[in-house]
Amino acid sequence: MVNTAVILAAGLGSRLKEHTAHKPKGFLVIDDLPIIERSILQLRKSEIEHIWIGTGYLSQEYERLAQKYPQVNCVYNDRYRDSGSMYTLYNMRESVREDFLLLESDLLYDIAGLKNLLADTRSDVILSSGATHSNDEVYIEMDEEGHLIAMSKQIELLGRVDAELVGISKVSLDTYQRMCRLVEAEFHNHLKWDYEQALVEVGKKKPIAVKKIEKFTWCEIDTEEHLQRAKEVIYPKLKQPAAHLSLPIKRNILLNPGPATTTDTVKLAQIVPDICPREQEFGDLMEWIAEQLTVFVAPKSEYDTVLFSGSGTAAVESVISSVIGEGKLLILSNGAYGERMAEIAQVYHIDYEVLESSSVLPLSLDAVEASIIRNKNKLTHVAVVHNETTSGILNDIDAIGKLCALHEVDLIVDAMSSYGAIPINMKASNLSFLISSSNKNLQGMAGISFIVACKEKLQKIKEYSPKSYYLDLYKQYEYFQRTHQLRFTPPVQTFYALEQAIIETQNEGIEQRYRRYTESWQTLIKGLDHLQLQYLVPIQYHSRIITSIKEPTSRNYEFGAMHDYLYNNGFTIYPGKIGQTASFRVANIGAITYQDIERFLKSMEEYLSM
Ligand SMILES: *Cc1c(COP(=O)(O)O)cnc(C)c1O
Repeated sequence: MVNTAVILAAGLGSRLKEHTAHKPKGFLVIDDLPIIERSILQLRKSEIEHIWIGTGYLSQEYERLAQKYPQVNCVYNDRYRDSGSMYTLYNMRESVREDFLLLESDLLYDIAGLKNLLADTRSDVILSSGATHSNDEVYIEMDEEGHLIAMSKQIELLGRVDAELVGISKVSLDTYQRMCRLVEAEFHNHLKWDYEQALVEVGKKKPIAVKKIEKFTWCEIDTEEHLQRAKEVIYPKLKQPAAHLSLPIKRNILLNPGPATTTDTVKLAQIVPDICPREQEFGDLMEWIAEQLTVFVAPKSEYDTVLFSGSGTAAVESVISSVIGEGKLLILSNGAYGERMAEIAQVYHIDYEVLESSSVLPLSLDAVEASIIRNKNKLTHVAVVHNETTSGILNDIDAIGKLCALHEVDLIVDAMSSYGAIPINMKASNLSFLISSSNKNLQGMAGISFIVACKEKLQKIKEYSPKSYYLDLYKQYEYFQRTHQLRFTPPVQTFYALEQAIIETQNEGIEQRYRRYTESWQTLIKGLDHLQLQYLVPIQYHSRIITSIKEPTSRNYEFGAMHDYLYNNGFTIYPGKIGQTASFRVANIGAITYQDIERFLKSMEEYLSM
């Protein structure tokens, strides 16, 4: 775990004239607090214990900070007038002897950026964002895998612009030492190296990851114009809007499998000026949302997202009614959501067959392959649920996708309750259609469902005669491509909430979100053991997102009464849905942590001991 930070703060800040005549740039004040102090407080909140500041111009100001904050130490660069940021960093090599977070001193930023980098399992990661149009950007070019290729203020030096440098990076000791060795050989020529240049050079020898958070809230303050933007645009966004509401929103812990608990910022994102959804501005919003939903799971050059108004089932129904054509569908079912796909196929008179299997075990790949082979002549599609929400079993869609590739059939995946938490790579796993909705692991509001589809497969269904009017997948796709609008009225405010939910998903990162969910699930499993309650699915098959629990046999237990008791304490649980075994379910998705699960377990213990 990284617990050290380095802040580069030697510069003159000469473009800010009177503001920096008596104080370095880090001491620009926004809402009564110098930006360097806000940064230090954010680092401390992120469990950073040692902060090294590379000083130069008016270094005594930083020395004074070091008196105030025991975590802070300064290293003075006496050549600050004629050297670049890399020399300041090089100058600290005797002090900095571990991996660290590297920050510039003149940043105003969302603390989520620190948390994201710290939780990333890779050791060298540069934080970047989408376009800010702030003037003076450092542009980044990266390769297909998201590794650094080039970085410069001069666009013409890049092959392509993929992102903008934020000025917060995670640097391993090895990379730092390589950067130092590299510039050491050059310092006799000049001291003007930027740390960005050195990172690019090292990046040619070892992979340096670029983490892009599309709408990351941040700014650098180099000019009067930047300062104004910081005060008027960025800082208001960083302040928690809910803190200013006179009516706090009660926080309920939803342990039902979606809609999930949302953040206040997602709730409040719905309060926007009225807008006609046929306006360009709203079209742009939906386009951005569709693109982000694609890139979470697939390359946008080959895949596209089609949006629908409606709950998740609307998108499932759209795919099943639109993509099969004259072919045959094999539905793999080990729970109620697999069965639901069969019911839909039945309604639309699709040629289909169901491979039923145990509702407490994952699908058997051998049985799946045997079914595919048995249907060889007519079979065109296979459909499966990723996380079967009835039981909490995780089906192996990667293995099934590879089977489908082998037998040249298309795979449809209902990823309603896995998308946004469990990393999915559609291309690598050979998935043609992936279905999810706004209100589960994305932690948005209910009302939008979507399909991430392989573009080539979408083109193929163009010729099929539609079986549904509203849910016609090709029409919905084609109309949006052409007009930037949905065919029918979208849930306008729900889209604004989804935008915010996506921003928060990107801030946290999907892998990190899954780690948070996993922590909650582990807490739950431990608590169930303590209460001597048993779960239905063998533990190694758990999705860690939802758990089916056998009902207690104690005399005074009754689901309705326990539900009501918990509900009155702010926790919502969900009835079971599996065969004959009496059970109930607990989902640990949404904007909650393991501490909420601890409180829930205590509440359940209270009920059971009454
Ligand atoms: C939630 C869910 C659905 C869709 O349910 P809606 O009530 O229509 O949103 C479909 N499949 C799975 C696996 C689910 O978890």
